[in-house]
Amino acid sequence: MDSIDVFMQVPTSISAYLEQELDKRFNVLKLWTVPNKTQFIKDNSSSIRAIVGHGGAGADAELIDSLPNLEIISSFSVGTDKIDLKKCKEKGIRVTNTPDVLTDDVADIAIGLALAVMRRLCESDRYVRSGQWKKGNYKLTTKFTGKTVGIIGLGRIGKAVAKRAEAFSCPIAYFSRTEKPELKYKYYPTVVELASNCDVLVVACPLTEETRHIINREVIDALGPKGVLINIGRGHHVDEPELVSALLEGRLGGAGLDVYQNEPEVPEQLFGLENMVLLPHAGSGTTETRNAMADLVIGNLEAHFLNKPLLTPVV
Ligand code: NAP
Repeated sequence: MDSIDVFMQVPTSISAYLEQELDKRFNVLKLWTVPNKTQFIKDNSSSIRAIVGHGGAGADAELIDSLPNLEIISSFSVGTDKIDLKKCKEKGIRVTNTPDVLTDDVADIAIGLALAVMRRLCESDRYVRSGQWKKGNYKLTTKFTGKTVGIIGLGRIGKAVAKRAEAFSCPIAYFSRTEKPELKYKYYPTVVELASNCDVLVVACPLTEETRHIINREVIDALGPKGVLINIGRGHHVDEPELVSALLEGRLGGAGLDVYQNEPEVPEQLFGLENMVLLPHAGSGTTETRNAMADLVIGNLEAHFLNKPLLTPVV
């Protein structure tokens, strides 16, 4: 398959293994290595048969239309919000993602963020390192065990968060488009009702037009000054300026974020807040999981070019 042109727009610093394994099998065209990107795409447009993207770099309609022989987009992510799926369906372009293999890591991070925010783990660590402990004990924090955890999007990751939170004796509630009667968790038909009835609100749904800014001022106010928001979905789920002002004004108890609207830019007003924990979109960021994701990306490409069923098709 080393004659097949696979296009990548940005380096996968999130997985050196992916790049290395792709290089072994395909002719990988790396946009970031050339000075004139527009010309490079023009020069190679007819030979590119596949795109490898990730959560931050997908394929919009313009790119898809500029590649007449594109057959497949294999994304190094479960979220496909950066890919124009409608355009792919219209043009018969296959799309694959990396579900399941990252579920545990992302759910671990959601619980880790809740614990870190409520028990002030990062702030306490800074307290010890800066020598302040010698001057006095750290203040009391807030218990996580037993608190009600509300989950938006009870899919693979949402259910894994619920399972972990249950081990902390947390009652579980959720909002999604459809009630899931087979699960014993409490369903709320709106996000505001869910936010009003939980202590920790976890965003775990896909980013779509419906879920953009699903966390708005009304939801933040419903969660309230003791509530904690955890976002391990996508940055655009949250109206970020509203979140920033709610935190600065003390209308929200705290937040743990893995994702942001304009990554890697993070609102600097958040940096000084001790009730915030900020992660650099690292939900799936373990060596084990990133390698498993890379194997799926490559497995899907190989299946496609060998005319075999795709491992994890989206379209
Ligand atoms: P999934 O299994 O497809 O679950 C998503 C759930 O969201 C579904 O159960 C769906 O339930 C619900 N949902 C869909 N549209 C909704 C809406 N409009 N309102 C409320 N709920 C809605 O996906 P997953 O594997 O759990 O992944 C979820 C998302 O996590 C991904 O799309 C990705 O953006 C994000 N993610 C982030 C990281 C990270 O590094 N931070 C890593 C992996 C994934 P209904 O059909 O009942 O609505």
